[in-house]
Amino acid sequence: MTTENEKYVYDFSEGKKELKNLLGGKGANLAEMTNIGLNIPQGFTITTSACLKYYENQDQVMETLKPAVLDAIKRLEDKYNKKFGDIKDPLLVSVRSGAPMSMPGMMDTVLNLGLNDESVKGLAEQTGNERFAYDSYRRFLQMFSDVVMGIELDHFEEILNAYKAKKGENAKDTDLEISDLKNIIREYKALYEKEIGSPFPQSPQEQLFNSIDAVFKSWNNKRAITYRKMNKIPNFGTAVNVQVMVFGNKGWSSGTGVAFTRDPSTGEKRRFGEYLANAQGEDVVAGIRTPKTMTEMKEEFPKVYDELMSLMEKLENHYKDMQDIEFTIEDGELFILQTRNGKRTPTSAVKIAVDMVKEGLITKEQAIMSIDAKSISDLLFKSIDDKADFEVIAKGINASPGAVTGIAIFDSDRTEELKNKENMDVILVRPQTKPDDVHGLYASVGVLTQFGGKTSHAAVVARGIGKPAVVGAQDVKIDIKNKQFTVGNTIVKEGDYITIDGTTGRIIKGKVPLVDPELTGEFIELLDIADEIKKLGVRANADTPTDATKALEFGAQGIGLCRTEHMFMAQERLPVVQQMIMAKTTEERQVALDKILPMQKGDFYDIFKIMKGKPVTIRLLDPPLHEFLPEFTELLLETQKLKMTNAATDEELKEKEELIHIIRTLHEENPMMGLRGCRLGITWPEINEMQVRAIFQAACEIKKEGINVKPEVMIPLVGMLSELKIVKDQLVKIAKETIDHYNVDLDYKFGTMIEIPRAALVADKIATEAEFFSFGTNDLTQMTFGFSRDDAEGKFLPIYFERGVMTDNPFEILDQEGVGQLMKMAIQKGRDTRKDLKCGICGEHGGEPSSIDFAHRIGLNYVSCSPYRIPIARIAAAQANIKNK
Ligand code: ADP
Ligand code: MG
Ligand code: MG
Repeated sequence: MTTENEKYVYDFSEGKKELKNLLGGKGANLAEMTNIGLNIPQGFTITTSACLKYYENQDQVMETLKPAVLDAIKRLEDKYNKKFGDIKDPLLVSVRSGAPMSMPGMMDTVLNLGLNDESVKGLAEQTGNERFAYDSYRRFLQMFSDVVMGIELDHFEEILNAYKAKKGENAKDTDLEISDLKNIIREYKALYEKEIGSPFPQSPQEQLFNSIDAVFKSWNNKRAITYRKMNKIPNFGTAVNVQVMVFGNKGWSSGTGVAFTRDPSTGEKRRFGEYLANAQGEDVVAGIRTPKTMTEMKEEFPKVYDELMSLMEKLENHYKDMQDIEFTIEDGELFILQTRNGKRTPTSAVKIAVDMVKEGLITKEQAIMSIDAKSISDLLFKSIDDKADFEVIAKGINASPGAVTGIAIFDSDRTEELKNKENMDVILVRPQTKPDDVHGLYASVGVLTQFGGKTSHAAVVARGIGKPAVVGAQDVKIDIKNKQFTVGNTIVKEGDYITIDGTTGRIIKGKVPLVDPELTGEFIELLDIADEIKKLGVRANADTPTDATKALEFGAQGIGLCRTEHMFMAQERLPVVQQMIMAKTTEERQVALDKILPMQKGDFYDIFKIMKGKPVTIRLLDPPLHEFLPEFTELLLETQKLKMTNAATDEELKEKEELIHIIRTLHEENPMMGLRGCRLGITWPEINEMQVRAIFQAACEIKKEGINVKPEVMIPLVGMLSELKIVKDQLVKIAKETIDHYNVDLDYKFGTMIEIPRAALVADKIATEAEFFSFGTNDLTQMTFGFSRDDAEGKFLPIYFERGVMTDNPFEILDQEGVGQLMKMAIQKGRDTRKDLKCGICGEHGGEPSSIDFAHRIGLNYVSCSPYRIPIARIAAAQANIKNK
C-alpha cells in the first residue's frame, strides 16, 4: 500500500549510514560523508521503499515521485546556481543505482544527464572547454542508450573505434579531436533513432524519469533475481541516487580514480590506489588506458594527494573498517563519490582484523565479527597459482577443497602400492568409489570421479580425511580397461600427471604451481582471540592418528566422534572382518574377532596418546554389516564367470556361493533403518565387546605410561532406554574388568548418540543411563524428515528448492524449526534427569556457522567437525557468543 505522505526522496544532508536499508549502501554513505564534512557533490536518494512500491503500482509511484524529484532538483539548482536543462550553464547529474547490499545486475550509472543539443553548446562556452563538453555529451549518449534504453553497446564502440583508428594505430580516446567528437555524436544519435524509432530525448526531465524507471526495473531483471536467490538476499528493493556531476574529464588537471585504505589483497597497512588524468567514471576500471599509481599522484597532484591521504585516514577511523573509495579531481579540486567497506581476500581480512585490534581501532569482538567464517576455509588448503599458465580440460563438482597434483591411477590397490613402495603422489581416478576403495583413498593425494555428487562415497571420505576431491565430472570419460580417461580429444593415461582443484572443481592436465595455505601469525592470533570469546567447545571428528594430529594442530579440544568402521575397512583387515561376519558359529566368530582386537587396540592407543588426556568419544560399530562385503551383483557376475570358464576349484566356488548366501541374508529393504547401531550390538554382542576391550586396554596402557586419557564410549542409534541399558550393562562390565586387570584409575564415560526422534522424546529416561548426549544430526535429520539423504539430495531436494518448498538443504544447514527443536527438548529433558549432562553435535553441522550459532543458543557444550573445519568452528563459536549476548 502506498501511504499518501511517505517520504520517498532524501537529500544527502538528511540521511546517515544507519539508513542503509532505506537509502541503499551508496546513498547512506554519501549522506554520512556529507554529514562529516567531506567534499561530496550534492544530490538526493530515492528510497528502496519507493522501488518496492513501484512493483505494486508503477503509475501511482511515478506520479507521487515526480513532483518530489523535481523539488529536490530545484534545491540543487539553488545550491549550485545552475539550471537543469539550461542552455547556457546546465546543471548535470548522474543517476546511480544502489541496493542495501552490493549486487550484480543492477543498472549501471548514467553520467552527464541533462545534456542535449543546445545545452552542450552552453557547457562549452561556459567552461571555455569545447572538447570537454562534447566528450561529455558523447559519453552521455552512449550510456543512456545502452543502460537505459538497452541498445547494444557494441554498436557504439564500433563507431568510436572507427574514429580512433583514423588517429593512428594505438590511438586513445584522448586523441580524438572536437570535430571527431561532433561526428561521433551525430552517428550516435542516428543509431539511437534507428534502434528506438524516435529521436534522442532532449528534455532533461524525460531523461531523468526514464533513468529512474530503468533503475527500478533493473531490480527485477533475471540476473538480479537469480543472484538474490542464489545468495539468499532479501527483496530489499534498490535505491536511486541522483547526484550533481563533477568532471574528471575536463583536462589534464582533472582525473578520476579509486583508492583503498589498506592493500585489499594482502591486508598490509599501506594506502593503495589507481587513477587516470583527464578521464571520467569507470575509465580506470574499464582499462581504457593504463592507470597511474599513488606514487605518481604524489608527483602529478601533490596537493590532492595529501588531501586524499588524510581523508582516507578520516574515513577509516570513522567507519572503523578498510574503505574502498571513488574520487574525482576537477580542476585540481578533490571530490569523493563513494566509500564502502572494501572487499578483501580471506588472508587480508584476517590481517586487517588483527591489525585493527592492535591499533586500538576496533575491539576484539568487532574483529571477530568482521570475518566471514566460511571464507576462512580457503586459508587452510593449497590453491592453484592463478598467475600460472594452465588449461582447464574439464570441470566437476567441488566436493572437498584444496588443489593437488599427482599421477592418475585407476584402481585403489595400485594406488596403495605406488604410495607404499615408491611414495608417489597419486590421484585416484574412478567412475565412483565404494567402501572397498577406502585404502586407495587414504593412499592417494586426491580423488577424481566421473559420477556422484557432494554426498557420494568419494566426496564424504575425502572431506573426512581432508583430501581434495572433484566428483561427478561428467565430461571425463573413464576407460578402466585401458587405464585412461578422455575429455574430448585429450587423453590422460595411467601415470600421467593431472591437477585437480577441489575448491572450484577444475581439472587440469599436467602439473600446475600450487600456493601453500597461509597459517600466518595473524591467523593464529585471530583464532586465539576467538578462543577467548567463545563459550562452545570445539572438537574434531577424527578416525585416525593423522586426523587427530591435524585436529590438535587446528585447535581441537577433544575428539567428538571417532568412527570405528573406517578401522574395519583397511585393506589388510577387511578379509578378517568378512571372516567374522561369515562365521557360522560363535567360536568361529571369536577367532576372527581375536585377530581384529589387537589392531583396534593399536588404533585407539595411537589416538589416545596424541590427544593427551583430551576427551575422545568413540562410537561403537554403526553401519549395516553388508557394507563390509563385496557388492552383490558384482559378486554374482564374478562367480558366474568362474563357473563358465572353470577357472576356480570347487572349494573356491563353494566359498563364493556361501558369500552370496550371506549377502542375501544380510540384504535389507531399507538399510538406513535396518540392522545397525546398537541393534547390531544386541544381535551380535561379541563385536561391541571386542571394541570395548580394545578401547580400555589401550586406555589403561596409556594411563600406565603416565599419560592422561579420557575415553567416552558412545552407543549409537538408541531409541529406547532398554536398548541402551542392555548394551551398556554388558559393556560396563567389560570396562571394569579391564580396568581392574590393569589396576589403574581411569576417567571414562558411557553415553549415547541422539539420532532417532524417539530418543529425543524420552531423553529424560535415556539420561538415567547415558552420561553424555551427542547429537548425530545427519541421522536425526534423515529420521525427522523421513528423507533418506542420498535419495533426497539426488532426486527431489533440487526440485524442492526450485519450487520453493524449501530454501536450505537440511543436511547442510541444520533445520532449527524441526530437528533443532527436538534437540532443544532432548537437552532440557536430559538435564532434568542429569543436571550436568554434557551435550554436543557430531554431525556435519558441527562445522557450519549458522548451525553453530544455534548450538550455542540451545546450550550445547560443544560442536564437533572435520579437523579442517575447526578454525571455522572456533570463529563461528565466538561469533555466536557475541551475537547472542
Ligand atoms: P558502481 O556502483 O558500478 O560503482 P557508480 O554509481 O559508483 O557505479 O558510478 C560509476 C562511476 O561513475 C564511478 O567511477 C563514479 O565515481 C562515477 N560517478 C558517479 N556519479 C558521479 C558524479 N556525480 N560525478 C562524477 N562521477 C560520478
Ligand atoms: Mg562505484
Ligand atoms: Mg548415525
